[in-house]
Amino acid sequence: MGLLSLGTPLAWDDAKRHADHVRSHGITQFLNIWDRLKDRCGDELLWGDEIEYMVVSFDHESKNARLSLRQSEILAKLKAITNDIASDRADSGSVPTFHPEYGRFMLESTPGSPYTGSLTDLLSVEGDMRYRRRLARKYLKQDELPFTLTSYPRLGVSGVFTDPYFDPENAVSSHSLFLPEEITNPHARFPTLTANIRRRRGSKVVINLPLFIDKNTPRPFVDPTIPWQRELYSEDPEAKQGAALNDHIYMDAMGFGMGCSCLQITFQSCNVTEARRLYDALVPIAPLMLALTAASPLWRGYIADVDCRWDVISASVDDRTEEERGLKNIQSTNWQTLRFKPPPINSPIGWRVEFRSMEVQITDFENAAFSVFVVLLSRAILSSGLNLYIPISKVDENMSRAQKRDAVHSQKFFFRKDVFPPSGSSRSSSACSSGSSSPVDGPDVVRRKEKKLRNCFPSVPPPEDGHPSRPVEDEYEEMTMEEIMFGKCPGFPGLFGLVYAYLDTLDITEDERCKLDEYLDLIKHRTNGSLKTAATWLRDFVRSHPSYKFDSVVSQEINYDLMIAVDELERGVRKVPDFLPTKI
Ligand code: ADP
Ligand code: MG
Ligand code: MG
Ligand code: MG
Ligand code: MG
Ligand code: MG
Repeated sequence: MGLLSLGTPLAWDDAKRHADHVRSHGITQFLNIWDRLKDRCGDELLWGDEIEYMVVSFDHESKNARLSLRQSEILAKLKAITNDIASDRADSGSVPTFHPEYGRFMLESTPGSPYTGSLTDLLSVEGDMRYRRRLARKYLKQDELPFTLTSYPRLGVSGVFTDPYFDPENAVSSHSLFLPEEITNPHARFPTLTANIRRRRGSKVVINLPLFIDKNTPRPFVDPTIPWQRELYSEDPEAKQGAALNDHIYMDAMGFGMGCSCLQITFQSCNVTEARRLYDALVPIAPLMLALTAASPLWRGYIADVDCRWDVISASVDDRTEEERGLKNIQSTNWQTLRFKPPPINSPIGWRVEFRSMEVQITDFENAAFSVFVVLLSRAILSSGLNLYIPISKVDENMSRAQKRDAVHSQKFFFRKDVFPPSGSSRSSSACSSGSSSPVDGPDVVRRKEKKLRNCFPSVPPPEDGHPSRPVEDEYEEMTMEEIMFGKCPGFPGLFGLVYAYLDTLDITEDERCKLDEYLDLIKHRTNGSLKTAATWLRDFVRSHPSYKFDSVVSQEINYDLMIAVDELERGVRKVPDFLPTKI
């Protein structure tokens, strides 16, 4: 992704006067893209991952692991290095790229160019991920390391959690009680977005994660680390006026959500119809993959009673006004599990779908395993025209269940009983009405454009065009994760069954199959509980640390030892047989 380098973002009060104009032109722009590119066809399957790192700086003397705020210097260095490598190579497209992210402690990496659908490329993903991590690692300072942790356990604690230290009193964009201004990438887009969410909403964002109540946790838990009495910004009293809930971990800034790392996969489809089918098929898969990749049980120095980042991200960008929040199915700046990416004009890039629910894993073996699984599953779904539709309200319910503690084993998820298409159905492409769009912005014109937009994407296509029909109540039920993954007779072979059936149609060598099986086995073992999820491993590490007081607190010392352990685990120095297969 590129960041705009021209122009100055407006504050919300100035920006909102232009909101209708922007909205209308957004629709016009999309309709123009649609008219030009709806029939674009024949793009090959390309795909790529994005991995986000947090750079941690160790102070070994005081045993503190802090977030390093050197993003700009690190990225400049990495850019110079990768340019150098590229100039020495015939295939400069294979040199990875590094990008900025919201947090000034974050880096994002992508492969130098997207992978093709070949098995060779699929099996090169882990090597590419490891190469990127090696590059990042090599050009950091001696006491810095890149980590692929979804949430940083001590982001926003009182005390020193960044290097260098900054006081939250200067948080002029977020007005946070916990996060200093300097936590945010200084590019104008990020502080402006942070401030405008607060301004549009009329208050700070409110995030309350249920606290994991341990045997010595005081009850009711009233967080002693919140500066309840601060009177610096007009929003400071919000915490004591009800925003901060007892028995919860209270967070009040966009940085808590946008400061999370994740693993994303983008697919290119051969045409818009295939992209739509893929998008729809992956919607019910997203919560399942969130639960299986759960990796974020530690927040602002406490153990949470949830395992995932999702609700924190959604709440951290919730810009709805108080009135809007009181009305049901109005959306905020919502953070979606899937993104539909139209082709940029005049580019070789086709219709793409981005899968965004997964939490980033500690090792690249795991990141590769989950990426490869999602690629294979999406191929399996597309090649056999499977129908995975369930009502979107059930997907939402699954999203909320997926974040619960140990959701893989403690929850059931709504899923379709029979995923096979009725025999004889074909996968023809759906037509789209076209027409010219006008630059005039009257309300009637906007309404007409919106109607046309809806016609481009009918929510559930009629069955006669070969798309699955609307799900009816007895077509889905609640299943355990094991039933969804391993199958439930008679109609449903499980997601693994679908993937294996697809693999059987490919020409694969024994070696290739062995490597794929290592990836699939990891996910199987996470499903059946013979291996822990990252979230369970992290929670267990804290709770079994000799200095843990069973009071839900992740102290500076515990966090330091945890970071050391995570690094050793990532390098394969520390063996953790209940979390990772020993042979990787
Ligand atoms: P964003 O941050 O907007 O989601 P990025 O540009 O960071 O997007 O990364 C998107 C991913 O898509 C990368 O892994 C990249 O390799 C991959 N990619 C790039 N071009 C294509 C394409 N034509 N088809 C599929 N994936 C692509
Ligand atoms: Mg990106
Ligand atoms: Mg990005
Ligand atoms: Mg992006
Ligand atoms: Mg990113
Ligand atoms: Mg992305």
